[in-house]
Amino acid sequence: MKRVGVIGGGQLAAMMGGAAKKLGVELVVQTPSKDDPSVAIAQDSVFAAVDDAKATAVLATKCDVITFENEFVNIEALSALARQGVCFFPRLEALTPLLDKYHQRCYLRDLGLPVPEFFALGEDGDMGKVEREMSFPIVLKARRHGYDGQGTFILKNLDSLKEKLEYTYTKSPSSQDLFLVEEFIPFERELAIIAARSVSGEVVSYPVVETQQEEQVCRRVIAPANITPELTAEIQNIACTLLNSLEVVGVFGIELFLTPDGKVLVNEIAPRTHNSGHFSLDACETSQFEQHLRAVCGLSLGKTALICPGAVMVNLLGFENSHSDYMTKRQQLAKIPHAHVHWYGKTESRPGRKLGHVTVLLDNQQLNSSSAIAHTLESIWYSS
Ligand code: ADP
Repeated sequence: MKRVGVIGGGQLAAMMGGAAKKLGVELVVQTPSKDDPSVAIAQDSVFAAVDDAKATAVLATKCDVITFENEFVNIEALSALARQGVCFFPRLEALTPLLDKYHQRCYLRDLGLPVPEFFALGEDGDMGKVEREMSFPIVLKARRHGYDGQGTFILKNLDSLKEKLEYTYTKSPSSQDLFLVEEFIPFERELAIIAARSVSGEVVSYPVVETQQEEQVCRRVIAPANITPELTAEIQNIACTLLNSLEVVGVFGIELFLTPDGKVLVNEIAPRTHNSGHFSLDACETSQFEQHLRAVCGLSLGKTALICPGAVMVNLLGFENSHSDYMTKRQQLAKIPHAHVHWYGKTESRPGRKLGHVTVLLDNQQLNSSSAIAHTLESIWYSS
């Protein structure tokens, strides 16, 4: 029996619940509210913000190893705990280069991995640099605390960039150098891969998937992505290089752009389980959540293969402010053949909030119909 502490108590922690039971692992979560999705499946909880390292010290007394479902942590404060012998998986050193999007881009570039052109926005002179070196549109990203596209802005011209920065600096003068500017990639598709590394250094990866974002938020995932074996191997290599370089223990999600001329660029690393891997709960031999627990508990890794020819996952995003549990819609979704509905049990719905997801397992005849199936699911969910 192992007790695993999880910093963050949203749906990603909650979805470890089934695997924890199966593996005989107890979960203790650090999360702000009693209403958070993981509290119901955890054996114990420490109610505190994820960046509250004092609370993490308490969490440490209740478990053998601490892991993350949320990376908005205070690394310096956690380092003090690590020095006192608290075991973090992934190690804090593996998280440090990733938490700031600018540092992350630098790390990937220095590792020789392909990334979009980028630079950190500092002070005045940079407008000149943007004008000289970048052509619009450009992408402006908050270096920290961005998620689900919050903090990512696609800007069409210099005026809109100036306007955006003026607005932000007026609202928060301390945010001067907290942005990253990067080239806009007119991608043909977005892809992602989930990979895991064990304590002994074994690396496994899941099938590469296609992810579809709208307004920077993931709407659908199609597994496997319809790409060549060569491209799959290239992406698996990227994952392997990264996880080995960081000596990761646990699961990481890697988001990529596929350009119209067939090149792959790394967009972003999630140092934890990721939305692009939710299909693995129903469609793979070992889910990403079980895999993560296996890795951080020092177990051997499970098989990652699909148990069916393919799968389509659709996020159930909030579309109104409400306290509804949307039971009727969930029942309708569950009637679709081979559909698995996952509901996160959030007490409040807001537009864009991830409330649940549905995965439909596909047979060989349906592999080309994933868009139509996604459309059916979405028309049930978003119908009024
Ligand atoms: P977050 O951390 O909030 O998820 P991302 O950096 O992953 O932010 O960006 C969210 C989405 O915005 C991406 O999935 C993609 O659709 C779009 N995006 C981000 N960066 C770029 C870029 N350089 N070029 C084109 N689109 C981008």
